[in-house]
Amino acid sequence: MPVPPFPRILLGPGPSAVAPRVLEACSRPPVGYLDPELFQALAEIQEGLRPLFGTSSELTIAMTGTGMAAMEACFANLVEPGDQVLVGVHGFFGARMVEVAARCGARVTRVDAEWGQPLDPARMEEAASALDGRVKLVACVHAETSTGVRQPLEPISALARRLDALLLVDAVTSLGGIPVDMDGCGVDACYSASQKCLGCPPGLAPVSVSSRALEAVAARRTPVQSWYHDWSLIGQYWRGEHAYHHTVPVCALMGLREALRAIHEEGLEARFDRHLAVSGRLLAGLDEMGLRPFAGEGHRLPMLCSVWIPDGVDDVAVRTRLLAEWGIEIGGGLGALKGRIWRIGLMGESATPRNVDLLLAALRRILVQRPGGRGSA
Ligand SMILES: *Cc1c(COP(=O)(O)O)cnc(C)c1O
Repeated sequence: MPVPPFPRILLGPGPSAVAPRVLEACSRPPVGYLDPELFQALAEIQEGLRPLFGTSSELTIAMTGTGMAAMEACFANLVEPGDQVLVGVHGFFGARMVEVAARCGARVTRVDAEWGQPLDPARMEEAASALDGRVKLVACVHAETSTGVRQPLEPISALARRLDALLLVDAVTSLGGIPVDMDGCGVDACYSASQKCLGCPPGLAPVSVSSRALEAVAARRTPVQSWYHDWSLIGQYWRGEHAYHHTVPVCALMGLREALRAIHEEGLEARFDRHLAVSGRLLAGLDEMGLRPFAGEGHRLPMLCSVWIPDGVDDVAVRTRLLAEWGIEIGGGLGALKGRIWRIGLMGESATPRNVDLLLAALRRILVQRPGGRGSA
């Protein structure tokens, strides 16, 4: 395959485009991990993240690692061996939560929803009431990147309150693209990743933890199994004393600070509106070509559009041509949806009308030119 056009146009499930000002901030010579300039950046990152998470929680930081590291950190801190955890699974990433919680020694109850639909809180409640003993943690994914479905958090939060359980939410794809309201929805721990709607390269994982969740961590009978992900140790570095824990990725953190500045310059409302507007443009264009959305009506995410691949169209051949000829990346389906849907990401910097129009033009060409396609002889 010839080398695809560069820079790529990243319209997959992440990573997404990074603005030049963020790349520049990442590429400045590093400072030390105890440098006052870095401490200033850490403080700004905390302040910049809180409104995105919709929280005033003190422990709002960017952990080292990607979204999966943050998922693992949340379960490692919040769960002890033997604890009961209830996970709502409506896609690939919810299933990963089950796996991670089980490896932390939790007794996990999973309640599945059909992929393409949100969770059914009544079924989760039923499963919880059939259990012996207390559920410590309820967990779900806010924006299921595998299906393009947006999970309403209020009913899950109401369930967690009735169970007197903590609520953990995966906001990897939602943060920075749609509102996340931790304090308003009673979310106790929430995590994201730098490379989806925040406009950074991969490598950092914003996390926010409520005081209630920190009390639960403090009341643990056993130490957090993961030394690297232990919030009490990491918190000592982010707080006033700045005690060395690990060498934080200073260049990536400088980039995140710049990205957060850009996000707040744009304004959260304007940013959410932009994601909505470009997703509407994409859906309209796909509809004109006869491509049907996969995610259920009323539950579609603006930053991740899942669409059925038309009958007779070769998934891999189309994606290969998009990349080779236009430098455009889109995602394929995961699990049972492999070869059946495409996942088109319009995240952060990638969410522009120009990108939508370019993708639609490229898709139109490829689909019309295929043997048996509408434009073929
Ligand atoms: C991408 C993603 C993750 C995993 O994040 P990585 O940065 O790839 O480790 C977890 N949850 C959701 C919903 C995601 O979209």
